[in-house]
Amino acid sequence: MKRVDLAYNRFFQGLGGIPKYKPSRKYSGWTYPSKAGWKANTDGKNGTLTLNDLGLTIKMRGQAKFWGTPTTLTITYKPNINAWYASITVKTETPDPKYGSESNLAYEKIVAYDLGTETAITAFNGSEFEEIANQRFSKTLEPKAKAAGKEKRRKQAPNFKKGIKASKRWKKANKKEYQLKRKVGLARRDWQHKVTSDLSSRYDIGVTEKLNTKGMTRKAKKGSQRKKQKAGLNKAILDVGFGTLNKMLTYKIELKGGIVLQLPTRQLKPSQRCPECGKVHKSWAELSNRYHVCDACEFEFDRDKTSTMVMFNAANGKQPGYGIDLDKRGFSSSTSKASKHTGSMKQLGKMKRQKSRSKDGSADTPSWP
Ligand SMILES: [Zn+2]
Repeated sequence: MKRVDLAYNRFFQGLGGIPKYKPSRKYSGWTYPSKAGWKANTDGKNGTLTLNDLGLTIKMRGQAKFWGTPTTLTITYKPNINAWYASITVKTETPDPKYGSESNLAYEKIVAYDLGTETAITAFNGSEFEEIANQRFSKTLEPKAKAAGKEKRRKQAPNFKKGIKASKRWKKANKKEYQLKRKVGLARRDWQHKVTSDLSSRYDIGVTEKLNTKGMTRKAKKGSQRKKQKAGLNKAILDVGFGTLNKMLTYKIELKGGIVLQLPTRQLKPSQRCPECGKVHKSWAELSNRYHVCDACEFEFDRDKTSTMVMFNAANGKQPGYGIDLDKRGFSSSTSKASKHTGSMKQLGKMKRQKSRSKDGSADTPSWP
């Protein structure tokens, strides 16, 4: 009932559309939209949650990654695992990033990274390469989930329109499939946090290219021969979670006071440019082309490593055939037209951060589902 009240309130306040009826198999639960009616007695680690209207106090176990002032509470029921969930939204105080003389970062540790499918992250710090292998969860856990799905298809599935109820066996198989899929998701998230925390702890400046995963995972045209190939690549891209790795790295580097430079991909062409002489080779863009040989200067190397070299050079203003304008080096700015700059990374870092701070007065706090 509470859920309906809330929806109608929103409707009358002109915030939402006309409330729809949500069948309980899709959604059940309710939200406390303010601090009233409940209390979280915790500092983010263990504690209790009290619901005034139900006269309930529930134990909370575990530790939140971030904690702050609790603002809203949502209670949901997940029928497939027969469990209730309480989710608390907290407002966190973003610490003011310290820069310039206040910061203890030297902005000398720079890393360029490329996110790929074979190798999840290829990183280059100017002298050494680092390759973080992609954990193919779908290779180990997913076949199990797939088998569970197949098992499910042989059972009596529910059909609400025809009034057919699911068989017990179907429910059991459905639960198994769900649990396996959940396991894949949790393992992936865990791994993503581990690798991004490690990399971001070691560098003050991250260099990457502007990513567009939406475009990258777009379906191939109908009837295209590349359809199957593209589907496989899409699967791999979504599997590694390109977007998530990128977001996590950016967020974690910025949280400690570092900066992340996003290079303009179309201008730089890091996957087509030779890091030594700067020549752009269109044929290098082919995904099947994993090893690059420059016909102008005889440079040769692995594709992913080559692009991190180009990105590293570009951010440092040392890529032949490419400019040294600040925009081109990822210090995007609309105000600075006098963009020829030869200052140190520390000075540039200061500028970049002052600019991004002054835009909205606060640091970006990206979130992910
Ligand atoms: Zn070359």
